[in-house]
Amino acid sequence: MTEEIAVIPGDGIGQEVVPVAVDVLDAVGAFEFVHADAGDATKEETGEALPQETYDLAANADATLFGAAGETAADVILPLREAVGSFANVRPARAYPGVDALKPETDLVFIRENTEGVYTGIESEISEGVTTLTRVITEDASRRIAAFGFEYAAENGFDRVTVAHKANVMRVTDGQFLEAARDVAEEGDYDHDEALMDALAMHLLLTPEEYDVVICPNLAGDMLSDLAAGLVGGLGLLPSANVGPENALFEPVHGSAPDIAGEGIANPAATVLSAAMLLEHLGYQDEAANVRSAVEGVLADGPTTPDLGGNASTEEVGAAIIDRL
Ligand code: ATP
Repeated sequence: MTEEIAVIPGDGIGQEVVPVAVDVLDAVGAFEFVHADAGDATKEETGEALPQETYDLAANADATLFGAAGETAADVILPLREAVGSFANVRPARAYPGVDALKPETDLVFIRENTEGVYTGIESEISEGVTTLTRVITEDASRRIAAFGFEYAAENGFDRVTVAHKANVMRVTDGQFLEAARDVAEEGDYDHDEALMDALAMHLLLTPEEYDVVICPNLAGDMLSDLAAGLVGGLGLLPSANVGPENALFEPVHGSAPDIAGEGIANPAATVLSAAMLLEHLGYQDEAANVRSAVEGVLADGPTTPDLGGNASTEEVGAAIIDRL
């Protein structure tokens, strides 16, 4: 059976890095790629940032590869994550040999809850100059992300699982998040430790090598994984998966990078590594390993894009990765 992969490049550098990842997938497997539009440019043309046909395509495809959306990001990626039924955002942050990383020992994975927290969009202006935001934390979603994180660590051979929270201040919401994680750990006999998310930010900066898997509420996972991007050499290197019970969507952690869009110098590594996660999800473990090792080889020996100190273009780096495959 030929798997159908929905391809949604979106805005900015999404248009430049996604085609590289598609070429890489094409080089290692026989997939059917179905392209669809979303993002700022689509909104300008059609009035909608996420056309229904794009939503349906992601919902029905075997997997989705997404690039980035600019101003319309919340209108695009949040519904797309919902379309694939995703509740876990998996964000590995790993330093690669040859890349000038602040902390070359970093090798950890953030498991971020991605359906609730402060990203539910329940905001209002209750009176002139007074605004509020409702933070939603449910027991079900907290248990689900904790179970996913513990199982992910066990399956991938990670020893340490840390649950990030701020239950000393957000007593009700993060209190519930933490309690749910503790219950799941006890039921499954999983070892874990717990860390206040602000202190954890400092510890991750100083001693990232001490951490393996970090389970986080939504916003904390978003911020801590960007922090980790800084430790390993920048946003051009971080892939991610949005995983649901059956379906999944893969995207680089970075956004549309309007500052460099159109210049052809975006680092495609994050998106190609996201494609490797997609391959793994579809059961192509060997192909995923080959893609990873090709990316690692290019990061070590070049060519590299300007964010990593080189002067190669996105296309040149893509061609070098495909050469190695
Ligand atoms: P958006 O609003 O879409 O999130 P942004 O610029 O605020 O865009 P990012 O796109 O994540 O956020 O970019 C943050 C910084 O990292 C920018 O300076 C950008 O140029 C750089 N950057 C992000 N991705 C890459 C990449 N793939 N290659 C090189 N630099 C990148």
